[in-house]
Amino acid sequence: MAKGTSFAEKAAKAAGKRGHTCPECGQPLQTVKLVYSERSPIKDSWKFNQRFVSVCKCNEKEVYG
Ligand SMILES: [Zn+2]
Repeated sequence: MAKGTSFAEKAAKAAGKRGHTCPECGQPLQTVKLVYSERSPIKDSWKFNQRFVSVCKCNEKEVYG
């Protein structure tokens, strides 16, 4: 093992294996399931939509806010 391998490089590799890193802040993205409640104008009832979003420091306030 070469001495030159930094913690940052290891962390980047680990993040890469898991999938996604934000190009903006470099933080690993967390996949979060959001559930929206949405009122249907036709049936006059509530329905729920699920959506998966990737969250990092850039958008966590938007997502959780
Ligand atoms: Zn980010």
